[in-house]
Amino acid sequence: MKIENFPEHIRQYLIPKVSGHVVYRCLGCSTEYDISRLLYTCPGCGSILLLEDLDFDRLKKVPADTWRRIFDYRRALNIPSMKGIYRYHEFIGPVIPLDAVIYLGEGHTAMVEANPHLEELAGARFYFKNEGQNPSASFKDRGMASALSYINFLLRSGKLADVLAVCASTGDTSAAAALYAAYLQPKVKSAVLLPHKKVTPQQLAQPLGSGAIVFEIPGVFDDSMKVVEALSEQYNVALLNSKNAWRILGQESYSYEIAQDFDFDMNHKAMVAPIGNAGNITAIISGFLKFFEAGIIDRLPKIIGVQSTHADPVYRYYLEPEPEKRKFVPVKVRPSVAQAAMIGNPVSMPRVIQLVETYNEKAGGQAVFFAEVEEQAIMDWQLTANRNGHIACTQGGETLAGLVEAKKRGIVSEDDVVVLDATAHALKFADFQAMYFEDRFPPEFEITPRQSLQNAPSLVRPKDLDLVPTPEKPLEGKDLDRFVQRTAEEIAKKLGLSRRDLVRI
Ligand SMILES: *Cc1c(COP(=O)(O)O)cnc(C)c1O
Ligand SMILES: [Zn+2]
Repeated sequence: MKIENFPEHIRQYLIPKVSGHVVYRCLGCSTEYDISRLLYTCPGCGSILLLEDLDFDRLKKVPADTWRRIFDYRRALNIPSMKGIYRYHEFIGPVIPLDAVIYLGEGHTAMVEANPHLEELAGARFYFKNEGQNPSASFKDRGMASALSYINFLLRSGKLADVLAVCASTGDTSAAAALYAAYLQPKVKSAVLLPHKKVTPQQLAQPLGSGAIVFEIPGVFDDSMKVVEALSEQYNVALLNSKNAWRILGQESYSYEIAQDFDFDMNHKAMVAPIGNAGNITAIISGFLKFFEAGIIDRLPKIIGVQSTHADPVYRYYLEPEPEKRKFVPVKVRPSVAQAAMIGNPVSMPRVIQLVETYNEKAGGQAVFFAEVEEQAIMDWQLTANRNGHIACTQGGETLAGLVEAKKRGIVSEDDVVVLDATAHALKFADFQAMYFEDRFPPEFEITPRQSLQNAPSLVRPKDLDLVPTPEKPLEGKDLDRFVQRTAEEIAKKLGLSRRDLVRI
């Protein structure tokens, strides 16, 4: 819709202007740093950073109801830079001018409610939010749109000449980084570090296809992460891991969208998300907090972080009920089908610790919870979801398994409506599905396929036929007729079809 067709009182708010005073804030020593340079850790104490808008209070001056209308009306705008995560510009990147925004179609992913059959199986009313519908097929695109828009902004304002963007990845970060960097080439080039044989073939294909320089590193993700940290500390590169606070900022859009899709009514809502490097859960918590602070939502939803028993450092940390006695201990990961979350030493742990405390405080009681699920449950629930019309990845299966667990533990109650984060597209993890269907999981995964969830193609080749078509030698005439007829009969027999009576007039 054109600007002149919006109601007059909303027009002044529709197109965001550059505003705010955004700084890096160290989570260790609280020092502030200017954002005119790329910074990932505190030069003083080495701790991780978050971005903070020192002028956030200006957003509280706009009445909450006006904010809700602004976001609703912005849905009708046809300005590309505002079609993605920057619909929430004032909350996501108020210092970035719209003409520096990179929009590749990220955000505003569908929330699809489970059918009655699946809701009954899970014992709760729930939606999957399909993050696999982002351009590189995972939620990581939200953070990359933010990080690369910021880099583009620095390039345009002459603060940077060119950039070599690097990241370590369990697969999806590199796919997203390579995609967004490719859009900005030749000024931005990307190199990605992947744990050798610990990303799926589809995830490996993505950065290769986007033209990134791809390095495979021995070990697991945590080892690749150490190498990329060494690179970013000693050399002139832009780090695109979620250690980069701009990534977190962009990923907060996930929470804003959910709030908006529920007409900003967060009463009796619960969110379930998988935890790997803990950037996603950080962003989800931070997003809801900001909307709550601004009064746009008047209640904080429950948030449940889920981990596999094969990679569960965050879950273990929160097993200790007394905050003062908690001690973070990295774990040695074991093979997991939730491979994108197979991380033993999450980079965002200090952010989680701080934000969970604030969130629970503001919610007036415990509102963030952690659950743990078995590998078997992850696979079984993923396949069950997809047999009911979803496109959930294994991490999406992990959230559904987590919901069932949370229901069992009484964290999710009867009248809660739950949103599960299906963090990537099922196709990225097709190999785990194949291993399940063909019963060839190595024992360390601890997964025994249930026959009722397996599936396999069957070849139809009627034995009495001498001739069947091949790509080189197609059939014609009587041979083709016979092949078609006999093959149809064989399929009908396998399906137990009854013949249609020919109606003669
Ligand atoms: C990255 C990723 C995760 C884990 O998110 P973190 O921010 O690392 O906790 C989960 N699922 C998928 C599909 C991912 O790509
Ligand atoms: Zn510091």
